[in-house]
Amino acid sequence: MSSHPTLKLNTGATIPTLGLGVYQMKKGEQTRQAVRWALDAGYRHIDTASFYGNEEDVGRAVKESGVPREEIFLTTKLWPTDFLRPEKALKESLKRLDTPYLDLYLIHWPFVGRDRAWKKLEQASADGLVRAIGVSNYSIRQLEELFKKASVVPAVNQVEISPFLFQKELIAFCQGKGILVEAYSPLTRGKKLGNGTIEEIAKTHQRSAAQVMIRWSLQHGLVPLPKSSKRERIGENANVFDFTLSEEEMRMLDGLHANYSALF
Ligand code: NDP
Repeated sequence: MSSHPTLKLNTGATIPTLGLGVYQMKKGEQTRQAVRWALDAGYRHIDTASFYGNEEDVGRAVKESGVPREEIFLTTKLWPTDFLRPEKALKESLKRLDTPYLDLYLIHWPFVGRDRAWKKLEQASADGLVRAIGVSNYSIRQLEELFKKASVVPAVNQVEISPFLFQKELIAFCQGKGILVEAYSPLTRGKKLGNGTIEEIAKTHQRSAAQVMIRWSLQHGLVPLPKSSKRERIGENANVFDFTLSEEEMRMLDGLHANYSALF
């Protein structure tokens, strides 16, 4: 069983507060191994997408792990080129993941056609193919537009967040509406792990810089999705539930905000 704490979605379902991201993991052995290691290490939450090209490997690893499907929180995403065929894209993802349902299905990017696609996701949710639906990379304005047309409030908004991109207003807006915020690229893709403030705080707690960044996300009520394809780091990234950053340390980390995106 997972030792990871959980949060509640606005659907009433629980979501483990830490997920393994699998973007840029190689199709085949690398993804399969990483997901197996994560499940062995106690992760019960995997974040993939049709765009990542590795849903089949995630599905295989879940099956091989022997962990019951209902104990695992599985997310995948609808890519914008599939906005005109969401039902088919969802069925294809389910097939590749070898699962009868998803725990969470997200609109990957807020491109043209997203509102129509959202209505189809609402239908998929009503049909029981997905237990929760949400969005990714949505701004406050895009969420407000969605509210005007939607019957279902998204359960999640998955966006890039790290101490260097502390999207405070967006987080407060989402949390105020009952939308859980997932933090992608929570480790800045490794680019800011050498930051002096983070290293100093890490030293105080005898932890790694990655652990401090993950802990910072958790203490802001976010669900971080760190990616690693290395067994040791997968374990290290989950070893974050037995220490707490002080208010002062949280303020220092908040202060690193520089509108910095690790994506580009
Ligand atoms: P992360 O911030 O998670 O960083 C991943 C990088 O950090 C990899 O290079 C990894 O290398 C390295 N790393 C991981 N753990 C450690 C550690 N303990 N010490 C040192 N280096 C480490 O970036 P991602 O962009 O991958 O984001 C994570 C996940 O978020 C994605 O996998 C995906 O699921 C999601 N995502 C969603 C997006 C969206 O549009 N919705 C966009 C981008 C990401 P190595 O693997 O070699 O260990």
